[in-house]
Amino acid sequence: MYSTQAIAKLEKNGKYEKITIGRGWTSEDDLNIDIKYCGFCHTDVHLANNDWKLPGFEYPAVVGHEIAGIVTKAGENVKDVKVGDHVGIGWFIDSCLNCKLCDNGEEVLCLNGNVKTATGKLLHGRIKTDNGKYTYGGWSKKITANRRFVSIIPKSYPLEKAGPVFCAGITMFTPLKTHGADKGGLNVGIMGFGGLGQMGVMIAKAMGNNVTVISTSNSKEAMAKKIRSRQLRYFDKSGFDESRIQNFGFNFEHHFCYP
Ligand SMILES: [Zn+2]
Ligand SMILES: [Zn+2]
Repeated sequence: MYSTQAIAKLEKNGKYEKITIGRGWTSEDDLNIDIKYCGFCHTDVHLANNDWKLPGFEYPAVVGHEIAGIVTKAGENVKDVKVGDHVGIGWFIDSCLNCKLCDNGEEVLCLNGNVKTATGKLLHGRIKTDNGKYTYGGWSKKITANRRFVSIIPKSYPLEKAGPVFCAGITMFTPLKTHGADKGGLNVGIMGFGGLGQMGVMIAKAMGNNVTVISTSNSKEAMAKKIRSRQLRYFDKSGFDESRIQNFGFNFEHHFCYP
C-alpha cells in the first residue's frame, strides 16, 4: 500500500477537499501510473453527490474516470507497456475476467459484475484501496490498475486532451463502428450536442462521413460550425421524434442520440 493525494467529497453537500488515500499493487499484471490529467465529466458531479445511490457508494468519494497519465512501474507479466508510456483509464477498472463476455472482450458487460473506476464496489481483487471496499477515481496523483483495463495513448497524441476520449469518445466510437460508420461515406445524424455529441461529430467526420447535428434549438449553431458538422437542424422540444427527422429531407443511414 502506498499513499497519494486526492480530491474528495467527504459528505454529500460538502466541498471538494484534498485528502490522502492509500492504493495498492495486486499482481504482476499491474501498472503504476502518475495521473497527469483527469477530465471532469458531468457524471462525476452525480457520483460525488451520490445522486444515483449506486451499490457500494461511500464517502469520502474520489471521482474522475477520464484518466491520462504516465506509467512509472510495470508488472513482470506486462509485456506491451513500459515505464514512461502514456496510458489512460475510463469508466471501468475491473471485472471477473472469467466469464464468456469477459473472454469476448466485453468486460463492460461482465456477468459477474464490473467495477467502476470511481466509487465502484470492489469485487474481483484487482484493485486495492485503503478502505478495502470501493475504488478511488482519477482525481488523484497516482493510481494502480491491471493492464487489461488500461489503454495505451500514442505519444503523438496530446496527453492533456486524452482523458475525455475514454468516456465520451469511446461511448460515441463504439456505436459508430458497430453500425459501419468507421468505413466512411454515410450520412450520419447526431442528435444532441453536448459533450458526447461534439465528440461524436468529430469522430464521425474523421471516419469520413457527412455529419449533421440535430438539436432542439439553434443555440449551439456556432459550435456546430466550428467543428464542421455539415449543418445543424433543430426541432422545438415537442417535436423531437423520428418521423420528423425523416422529414428533414436527409436520408440518414444512421442517427445516434446523445445528450
Ligand atoms: Zn465521463
Ligand atoms: Zn466477467
